[in-house]
Amino acid sequence: MSAKLPVSIFNDVIGPVMRGPSSSHCAAALRIGRLAHDLMDADFQEVLVEFDRQGSLPTTHESQGSDMGLFGGLLGWDAADERLPGSPQALRDAGVTIRIETVDTGDEHPNTYRLTLRNLRGEPHTLIAISTGGGMMEVINLDGFAVSLFGDYHETLLSVIGNGPELVKRVTALGGVDDVLLHEHCGKQLVEVKAAHFVSDETIAELRKVCPILSVKRLAPVLPIASRKDTRVPFTTCAEMLAHDAGRNLPLWKLAAEYEMARGNLSEAEVISKMVEIVRILRRSIAQGIAGTHYDDRVLGHQSGQFNDLMKAGRLLDGGALNRIILYVTALMEVKSSMGVIVAAPTAGACAALPGAVMAMAEAMELGEEEMAKAMLASGLIGVFIATRWTFAAEVGGCQAEGGSAASMAAAALVGMANGTLAQSVAAASMAFQSMLGLICDPIANRVEAPCLGKNVMAASNALACANMALAGYDPVIPLDEVIETAQRVAGQMPRELRCTALGGLSITPTSMAIEQRLAAKKAASCGSGCACH
Ligand code: SF4
Repeated sequence: MSAKLPVSIFNDVIGPVMRGPSSSHCAAALRIGRLAHDLMDADFQEVLVEFDRQGSLPTTHESQGSDMGLFGGLLGWDAADERLPGSPQALRDAGVTIRIETVDTGDEHPNTYRLTLRNLRGEPHTLIAISTGGGMMEVINLDGFAVSLFGDYHETLLSVIGNGPELVKRVTALGGVDDVLLHEHCGKQLVEVKAAHFVSDETIAELRKVCPILSVKRLAPVLPIASRKDTRVPFTTCAEMLAHDAGRNLPLWKLAAEYEMARGNLSEAEVISKMVEIVRILRRSIAQGIAGTHYDDRVLGHQSGQFNDLMKAGRLLDGGALNRIILYVTALMEVKSSMGVIVAAPTAGACAALPGAVMAMAEAMELGEEEMAKAMLASGLIGVFIATRWTFAAEVGGCQAEGGSAASMAAAALVGMANGTLAQSVAAASMAFQSMLGLICDPIANRVEAPCLGKNVMAASNALACANMALAGYDPVIPLDEVIETAQRVAGQMPRELRCTALGGLSITPTSMAIEQRLAAKKAASCGSGCACH
């Protein structure tokens, strides 16, 4: 079994660029679907999806976009594909039968997907994967073999019987591959080759002369930053980063760039340029949100336009740049809820707090896109510390994992924009996270809209307050690493009902349940009775 490589800012923290209400549902499910699509060579007629009754997915898979993402992935689509809202129908139109069942499997992780796919010849393939938060996933079982695939390599899978060790030796001897693993299950063997490219047909023909190979599968990577053998990063915790800085007081963005350069084998210019691309996407989405978004299947309509009008007319209370932050945060949330393009930063549910705070404050300070990108990079490094030790998944940690992480990341970014010190950036991140501990996840009507809108605004406002407190030298008392550990501990004490299952908090108020029923009835009426996704 290969170990998980260090977290990447672009893979795990700022991204994916996607559509849909929830990255741990839509984007992760899409990536799982893409790998299943490749496992079947894009040829399948039946899909059975099973969710454990005790997990989070039986109650959320449809309303929070798992179905949309999974089916889009099975069709081979991209996470930002504009056809995604219609993916269930598109899959049915392609002649695929879909069954979704709730089963009692006792899965350890609340976001476990069990897929069984068959082609016209009835050949089955199975895949078990978990969504680990922020769009990240891990395939843990393929056709009965225990594996560990994160979608960060070109994976060539060779099925053999009996001669697996010999094949491993020969493929390793070829060189140019990162890892060659032998998996065994019920007398069968699977040789997994992880590399920057697939094993070519010519090489496989040569290997077949000495080792019979029953079948070959090629799974393309689904993450933007590829992994490579022996990747080393300079630090993985805040304490290690401060030790690495050794009193030089480097800006946090510079340390973030150094980290990502090591993780992704990139130059500093490449790292900044990738983040500038993301900044441009975010600015377009903010403008689109303020201009007005429309989507039938949502709880809240377009509200940011009215806020913008009143703000411009001077009819809101004076919040300084905070009002522009609120505008940008709410505009981005509306784009998310209308299936527009967003960036999970660090998740789709909490996609707006960090970019809204950074873009609005940068504009108020008349900073350009490169400065915005540097601020996003700085925030990304705080996200690395969180994702390395813990998670962004609300199903595991409640909203403290999403909104809490976003607030912490945004606070550090804002300090950097004000040319604060490294210690002040870290202090702001710690204070902002401390204020969000224990935050539950209880989406109203099982949609990631409210109270998510207010929680994103709260995270951004908290970030601004903590950034200014840190700039003024306030003492965070508890170091950031200890706050992250505490969030993890608190998550373990939170009941399942308060961790994104829609079984507690505001989710079960009479109003929430009435809205959910109204939206379901409206959808059923527009979908018709032949809707196999229900
Ligand atoms: S309450 Fe927080 S964690 Fe839950 S869906 Fe909303 S933003 Fe995400």
